[in-house]
Amino acid sequence: MSSPDAAYVFEPAPVPTLPVSGSQALFPVHRIYCVGRNFAEHAIEMGHDPGREPPFFFQKNPDTLVPAGADFPYPPETSDVHHEIEMVVALGSGGDNIALDKALDCVFGYAVGLDMTRRDLQAEAKKLGRPWEVGKAFENSAPCGPIHPVANVGHPAYGAIWLTVNGELRQNGDLDQMIWKVPEMIAYLSRLFTLKPGDLIFSGTPAGVGAIVRGDVMVAHVDGVDEVTFKVS
Ligand code: MN
Repeated sequence: MSSPDAAYVFEPAPVPTLPVSGSQALFPVHRIYCVGRNFAEHAIEMGHDPGREPPFFFQKNPDTLVPAGADFPYPPETSDVHHEIEMVVALGSGGDNIALDKALDCVFGYAVGLDMTRRDLQAEAKKLGRPWEVGKAFENSAPCGPIHPVANVGHPAYGAIWLTVNGELRQNGDLDQMIWKVPEMIAYLSRLFTLKPGDLIFSGTPAGVGAIVRGDVMVAHVDGVDEVTFKVS
């Protein structure tokens, strides 16, 4: 005879969550989508044409999130780990084929996150035409601050987005430099995937990506959203 608590052959992993600013409630994370090359100056620094090509996406696994207050552990099998500061869009609802003028209605809130990248492994994957997971979706590859509800921060469309390492400015841009704006990335993604409550979208990084080493302290700031600190351990 089975019983409800014998339904799994082993204990399922806990649902990944992020704290919600100003609340005791947790935001349960479903999927993590990331937009590539969404700032022209970053596309150029990575050797690409910054034209308005259709956006492209990759994913990280929800259990790669690192909450604010924890360290970013330097990952294995790499000697070139880069920071990429990004504004993170947190969805409270989803769907398929979401209309552009309804897309912002899906947003629960915003956070400041880091799309940490094993650049050497990503470069090798690009060269060989292989998938990017080893470069992008490794353990602890998605440090992310708490989610700030739209009721508190609105829908940030302009304002500084910057990152310092040990107090030195490394990345510096403005949200208004995004090639694909938040409603556009939601509408576009929803044609490719069924978006769900709990989905996070890392919305792309401005120019100035670079390497970090153990002991570095990264401070990531988006005007009107948050400023979060992650130490590399
Ligand atoms: Mn990125």
